Amino acid sequence: MSVMIETEEHKALRAAVAALGKRHGRTFDREALWSEAAKLGYLGVNLPEAYGGGGGGIAELSIVLEELGAAGCPLLMMVVSPAICGTVIARFGTDAQKRAWLPALADGTRTMAFGITEPDAGSNSHRITTTARRDPDTGDWLLTGRKVFISGVDIADATLVVGRTEDSRTGRLKPCLFIVPRDAEGFTRRRIDMELQAAEKQFELVLDDVRLPADALVGDEDAGLLQLFAGLNPERIMTAAFAIGMGRYALGRAVEYARDRAVWNTPIGAHQAIAHPLAQAHIDLELARLMMQKAAHLYDAGDDTGAGEAANMAKYAAGEACVRAVDQAVHTLGGNGLTREFGLASLITASRVARIAPVSREMILNYVSHQTLGLPKSY
Ligand SMILES: Cc1cc2nc3c(=O)[nH]c(=O)nc-3n(C[C@H](O)[C@H](O)[C@H](O)COP(=O)(O)OP(=O)(O)OC[C@H]3O[C@@H](n4cnc5c(N)ncnc54)[C@H](O)[C@@H]3O)c2cc1C
Repeated sequence: MSVMIETEEHKALRAAVAALGKRHGRTFDREALWSEAAKLGYLGVNLPEAYGGGGGGIAELSIVLEELGAAGCPLLMMVVSPAICGTVIARFGTDAQKRAWLPALADGTRTMAFGITEPDAGSNSHRITTTARRDPDTGDWLLTGRKVFISGVDIADATLVVGRTEDSRTGRLKPCLFIVPRDAEGFTRRRIDMELQAAEKQFELVLDDVRLPADALVGDEDAGLLQLFAGLNPERIMTAAFAIGMGRYALGRAVEYARDRAVWNTPIGAHQAIAHPLAQAHIDLELARLMMQKAAHLYDAGDDTGAGEAANMAKYAAGEACVRAVDQAVHTLGGNGLTREFGLASLITASRVARIAPVSREMILNYVSHQTLGLPKSY
């Protein structure tokens, strides 16, 4: 029996994206890379062929992001635009929404951000208070609330905002997804001053009675939670890809350096105190990738429940592997690890993002404790 972790097509995709990444490199121009990757079909590789996509899945999309990251030029908005928004619209959007968004998300001419995090809810997304109510006269939605840390709102044509509507039977609030155009009246943003060196910025958003047409609601008002999770699993898998790519990039720079740099009689890479932690970092990244591939495989096969557990574990493993790989890479370069010239120090901050977002390390450990191991909850 032959065991195949990745198909020949996957390997070819990896190689082609790696070559594109190599041409752009660490000092990449985000917009130029975005449009070139889109033209080559990489950004929409997971979207349906009928709407201009590649007809693949998250397995393919995660390969694209991982390889760009490994070349030093990750595209953060891939986690959001094709992976969350594209998936949710493709699976649950109306025909009109699919026609309006999917071909443009696939060819990169339009981008969509994603906003769930709120200042007072944080990790507890059950507590979000952004609320939509219907104007009884027009049928329009009126959306009011606040969001924080939302990436790329300035470069996105619209943001997919997670809000809540009131259930007319029970009066309880249920999650719903709305497409909010960047220039909608009452929709304002303030850039958050992050210590991150990245092309994509984070924003605090205020929605003050933002009037949206009835068809701004994506999917079914009564199945919002299910639809939301359909988007959150790809987000976790793509965050794993982002982290693994960054970890590989840092490890690659460290290995090159350790091979050449000699301060005694041998290169520093011959000292096991340098070599072993790099080997461990490599093993951790490989293991995280294996879990990411499992999660992507389950998700693409339609097993949302199985994918949920695996996507959480993959995100956890990749975030931890990335933080350790970056830490060891910086250390391997000694003083040069902290220079701008070598460009690794800024990854110390960047790698922490994978531990915090989109769901923190602790919330994944909670999930595994409760869901997988059946232990009681502390909260
Ligand atoms: C660079 C960046 C980009 C982002 N982009 C987006 C985006 O595009 N869209 C979006 O919606 N959000 C985005 N986020 C937000 C991100 O998803 C949140 O920061 C994350 O979910 C954590 O929420 P919080 O920051 O409110 O932390 P909190 O929820 O306040 O958590 C703080 C700490 O407490 C811990 N904690 C909380 N509850 C528990 C518990 N029950 N048990 C144990 N520990 C607990 C957490 O693990 C964490 O360490 C982004 C964040 C960053 C940093």
